[in-house]
Amino acid sequence: MSITTPKMAIDLNTTGYEIHRLISELYPICRSITGNGVRQTLHLINEYIQLSMQEVPTGTRVFDWIVPKEWNIRDGYVKNSRGEKIIDFQKSNLHVVGYSIPIHQKMSLEELRPRLFTLPEYPDWIPYRNSYYTENWGFCLSHRQFLELKNDVYEVFIDSSLEDGYLTYGEYYLEGNTKKDEVLISCHICHPSLCNDNLSGIAVAVFLARHLSSTLRRHSYRFLFLPTTIGSITWLALNETELSSIKHGLVLACLGDSGMSTYKKSRLGNTVIDRAAVNVLKHSGQNYEIMDFLPYGYDERQFCSPGFNLPVGCFMRTPNGCFPEYHTSADDLDFVQPDSLHDSFLKCTKIFNILDNDGIFMNQNPKCEPQLGKRGLYRPLNRQHQLPNEQLALLWVLNLSDGNHSLLDIAERSGMGFEEIRRAAGVLDANGLIIRVNG
Ligand code: ZN
Repeated sequence: MSITTPKMAIDLNTTGYEIHRLISELYPICRSITGNGVRQTLHLINEYIQLSMQEVPTGTRVFDWIVPKEWNIRDGYVKNSRGEKIIDFQKSNLHVVGYSIPIHQKMSLEELRPRLFTLPEYPDWIPYRNSYYTENWGFCLSHRQFLELKNDVYEVFIDSSLEDGYLTYGEYYLEGNTKKDEVLISCHICHPSLCNDNLSGIAVAVFLARHLSSTLRRHSYRFLFLPTTIGSITWLALNETELSSIKHGLVLACLGDSGMSTYKKSRLGNTVIDRAAVNVLKHSGQNYEIMDFLPYGYDERQFCSPGFNLPVGCFMRTPNGCFPEYHTSADDLDFVQPDSLHDSFLKCTKIFNILDNDGIFMNQNPKCEPQLGKRGLYRPLNRQHQLPNEQLALLWVLNLSDGNHSLLDIAERSGMGFEEIRRAAGVLDANGLIIRVNG
């Protein structure tokens, strides 16, 4: 097994700040489902982890979909009759509706109004809109700004192009010592200046990849940086024959807000990744939410479509659509916190730790309990006559290591955290009391 040495060792205490810094670097880029913003994003990620980039031509058929035309934008504004830019793409890339076709025209406020999108309930925020599959154009602005618009002749200008090109995505593969068993990590890279949804997912994925590159791995890890929906559909179509190696998967999104961690189960609902995520959250000492699968959300929709039904869950803090800042200019650099990013990062590493260290052991002394005292493994009861947890963990592992129960099974049955059980198994293994029978 080859272990690559990362350029910089990960300091877990500063990781939240480093993840936030990467988000700040990615924030100004205008991304969409295709175009140079995606390429720029992948180039920036490439400074942290060596990506392989794929370009899939417009018109490629991917299942029921077709890779769309490539969209690029250079500028966009609305000027009043005094020549003042009252809406300016250079100030916020959210101002122009994504995938807007080019336009340069003068028009009245009446003509312009149906092309303007605002959020009356949050009058200072700019909404995020796009029109990927219907050729259209429009502008987004704060409702306060909208109310100030007077009857006037406006010059509307969008310098964009929508032409044959490519859909771009990135992939990072880390080989583990069981090459064929893969963990798939996927995040979307198609939103413009929005932080929680989903620069947080991208940046946490990058730091997880760097972290994993310096640790012992049983599984191989494949990180996908995809435009949402069409990206995962394209990837699945191009890799259909390789999918049997995916044993576990996680879609990462919305990992930086101050809400509690949420895990949305895979369609299968009780796979190892589902159980690992539940065990980590249950023993985190924090509030958490477990959601059943529903066919709405991020790219788990495609990975868990019935034709694939992969064991892929989704890890978030506050889910998509459940925080008011979602898809607005208020999902900015202040909305994502280093502490939350760090916490999400750590929980993911704990989930991966379960995937890589779960295993089945066999008790070598199954007829009655082995005498732990003569091996220095017996701790007397405390004053409350309670068995210390580490002692109880030893007894659980000994009792259930019958060749049928994995460490995760034992953690669940005992109500203990996986790490506690794994440590106990390590001690028993070192003392020759159990041996590994799989993996
Ligand atoms: Zn979104």
